[in-house]
Amino acid sequence: MKVLKFGGTSISCEQNILNVKKIIESIDEPVIVVLSALGGITDQLITTANMASVGDNEYEEELSKITARHLNLIEGVISCSQLCAVEVQNKVVHLLNELLNILKGVYLIKDLSIKTSDAIVSYGERISSLILSYVIKEAKLFDSRKFIKTEKHFNKHIVDFELTNWLIKNTFVPLPKISLVPGFISSDKETNEVTNLGRGGSDYTASILTAALDASVLEIWTDVDGFMTADPKAISSTYVIEHLTFNEAIELCNYGAKLIYPPTIYPVYHKNIPIRILNTFNPNTSGTYISNEQNSTVSGKSLIKGISSIDDTCLVTVQGLGMIGIIGINYRIFKTLADNDISVFMISQASSENNTSFAVRNADADLAVKALKEEFALELEQGEISDIKAEKELATVAIVGENMKRTPGIAGKLFGTLGRAGISVIACAQGASETNISFVIKLQFLRKALNSIHDSFFLS
Ligand code: ADP
Ligand code: MG
Repeated sequence: MKVLKFGGTSISCEQNILNVKKIIESIDEPVIVVLSALGGITDQLITTANMASVGDNEYEEELSKITARHLNLIEGVISCSQLCAVEVQNKVVHLLNELLNILKGVYLIKDLSIKTSDAIVSYGERISSLILSYVIKEAKLFDSRKFIKTEKHFNKHIVDFELTNWLIKNTFVPLPKISLVPGFISSDKETNEVTNLGRGGSDYTASILTAALDASVLEIWTDVDGFMTADPKAISSTYVIEHLTFNEAIELCNYGAKLIYPPTIYPVYHKNIPIRILNTFNPNTSGTYISNEQNSTVSGKSLIKGISSIDDTCLVTVQGLGMIGIIGINYRIFKTLADNDISVFMISQASSENNTSFAVRNADADLAVKALKEEFALELEQGEISDIKAEKELATVAIVGENMKRTPGIAGKLFGTLGRAGISVIACAQGASETNISFVIKLQFLRKALNSIHDSFFLS
C-alpha cells in the first residue's frame, strides 16, 4: 500500500485532473490519495474572507469566481452520466452556499476570528476531494476531520498523534483499492471544529497517514521533476537531486525549500518510510528519493546537495559589553521569544558573548524587539546591554549536504564565492552536525548569491 499526495497545481484544471486520474488508476496496489484544493483556491478563499471582514461587498463577486471555477471544472471532468454531474454539482453548490452564509456573517460583523477563517479555508479541500471522488468512480471518499485531530498549542493547532494514529488505523479497514482524502484540514479533538495543519499542510496529512498505516512509500506528486539543487523559480541551471537523506531534506525544507512542508518529514522519518518526489506532468521520470540511506551508498558526487533560502528575514541583535557577565542571558532571550510565539530559524553568537543575533520573519520583528526590551529593561537602563535592534530587508541562505562533514574547506569555498561576488555576510551559523551552513545577507543580493553559489558548487 502507498500514499500519494497531489498538490494544487496537479489538479488545477480539467486536463491536469484527468492526468491525475490516469496516474492513480494505473497503480496495482491499494492507494490512499491525499488532495489539496484546486491551485490558487486557498489564496482566493483568504482574499474573499479578508474582503468580507473589512466590509468590502465585492467579496460576493470573488466567491462567484470560486463557484464558477468549480462548476466549470465539473462540466469538463465528470463523464459518468448527466445524473452524476447534477449530483456532484448539487453537493458542491450546497457547500458553497454554506460558505456564503459564513462570509455574510463575517461581512456583517466585520470580524474574522481564527476559528472562522479556519472554517472558510477548509472548503477548498472539501470541494476538490468531493469532485475527484466523482471523477475516479471506484474511489472511496474519506473526511479527514474525522481522524486528523488537533489540539491548541500557543496559537497553533498541533496534531494529537496518539489519538490520530488510533483513529486512522480504525478508519481504513478494510482498506479500499483507492481512498481519497482531503489534505490540510483536521478538527479540534475537543470541540470537533474544523482546524488545519498550516499552509502546505496536505503534505503533512499524507505523511501522517503513511506513518500510521505503515505504507511502503509516501509519493509527493507536484509540478517539478523532483527536489532540485535550488528553487527552479530562482535559478535556471538547477537539476534534480536523485537522492537526499531525511536530514538533508529537513534542512533544505526548514530553510525555505517550499517543495515539502517541513513537518511532513518527521512522521515518515521516525518510521523509516521513504518519500519520493514525482512530477504529475512528467510521470515517467524517477524524481527524488528521500530515505535514511547514506549518500555513499547511493550517490555522493557533489560536496553539497542543495541550496535553499528564506527571503522573509529580519535579524534581531542583542548587544552590549556587559552581556559577557550575565548568566542565563540566552535563556531569557529565547524564553521571551517562545512566550510570544515567535519562531527563530537561525542563531549566531560571537565568541566574546557580547552579541547574540537571531533571524525571525519580518512580521515577528517588532514584537520581538518590544518583548526583549521589556525583559531586559533593567540591563538596558544600567548599560550592560547597549542595544536591541532589528535589521530588515534581509535573506537567509543555507547550503546543505551530509558530505560536508567529511570534507574540509567548504566554508572557505562558500565565503570565497560570496566575497568574489561582492556580497558581505551579516551573520552566519553552522550546526554541530556539519550538514548545513546558513548565513544572512541583504535581500537585494539574494539572487546573485544563489547564482554564484550554485555555479561554484554545482557547475565548476
Ligand atoms: P504543490 O502545489 O504541489 O504542493 P508547491 O508549490 O507547494 O507545490 O511546491 C512546488 C514548488 O516548490 C515548485 O514549483 C518550486 O518552485 C518550489 N521549490 C522551491 N525549492 C525547490 C527545490 N529545491 N526543488 C524543487 N522545487 C522547489
Ligand atoms: Mg505544497
